[in-house]
Amino acid sequence: MSDFSLSIQAWYRQNKRDLPWRNTSDPYFIWLSEIIMQQTRVEQGRGYYLKFRNHYPTVQDLATAEEQEVLNDWQGLGYYSRARNLHFSAKYICDDLNGVFPPTFEEILTLKGVGQYTAAAISSFAYNECQAVVDGNVYRLLSRVFDIDLAIDSTEGKKYFQQLAQELIDCTSPGEHNQAIMEVGAMICKPSNPNCEECPLQEKCLAFSNNTIPLRPVKTKKIKVRKRYFHFLIYKNDGQLLIEQRIEKDIWKNMYQFPLIETKELVTKEDAQVWSNQKLESKQIKHILSHQRIIAIFHHFDSIPEFLKKKYTLIKIDEIQDYPLPRIIDKYLNDFSELF
Ligand code: SF4
Repeated sequence: MSDFSLSIQAWYRQNKRDLPWRNTSDPYFIWLSEIIMQQTRVEQGRGYYLKFRNHYPTVQDLATAEEQEVLNDWQGLGYYSRARNLHFSAKYICDDLNGVFPPTFEEILTLKGVGQYTAAAISSFAYNECQAVVDGNVYRLLSRVFDIDLAIDSTEGKKYFQQLAQELIDCTSPGEHNQAIMEVGAMICKPSNPNCEECPLQEKCLAFSNNTIPLRPVKTKKIKVRKRYFHFLIYKNDGQLLIEQRIEKDIWKNMYQFPLIETKELVTKEDAQVWSNQKLESKQIKHILSHQRIIAIFHHFDSIPEFLKKKYTLIKIDEIQDYPLPRIIDKYLNDFSELF
């Protein structure tokens, strides 16, 4: 075993956080946790993991659930394509693989929504397959320990870091090695203010001795953020309102929302008034996704035009929580409950 692996595993045994998905080697539960934890903070993900484990204790339970039920349970986590892929893959495992979770890295990679990192995590944690994980924490840690100035988001950089991680992995204990390298990255070698004094790799760390920590990791691309203006039209009257399902290939697919008009620029309240010949009240909230900034303006109308009842779905106001809703709408309903 390399010195590198020895140091991180010794540290991990003493300092690891007690996380519920660390007490299992069941590939189905590990898969659930890995998909839930993508783009999610540990504290938020923990509750969702326990909810999914309870609600869908086997892959068969997940496969036989309605998609709407799964999306409802996912509500609040965002990036709903993850929930749809989970559900799709659960059905694939039950229909095409006799309900048996794929047993190797290569086969796990064929599941929808599973990339190299997730397949390496599941195969090493569940089956002890010697596959190195490289997530954001690992990129940062390796770029600092070896003082590497290759961009982590370049093709060359990705290949280089994957090979390096594979050279360092301890094949006698790949699951624990992978957990350890990610935990040191997450808890010690943080993006800003890394805790070098407590770091088990400090003696070996070239960025520490070369004084280049703030320069690592190197990235080339800046994420382009697209601004979108969503005007939600809340037509409500007599305890009822209109909703619609999002069916386009876009964010929040298959979820429900108030009738929507999207514009390229912000429109004034007066301009918005032409969408209905009624006086309206408007409230604005912002929602930031990784590549999009949504500016949502909620316009309230106090009647429901007859012709719109044919185009949209009319429901009772207190039934709205039965539908899977994007987080921004759920938040709006909670923050402005007095308007409903
Ligand atoms: S010594 Fe500091 S910079 Fe180097 S790996 Fe440890 S925490 Fe990161």
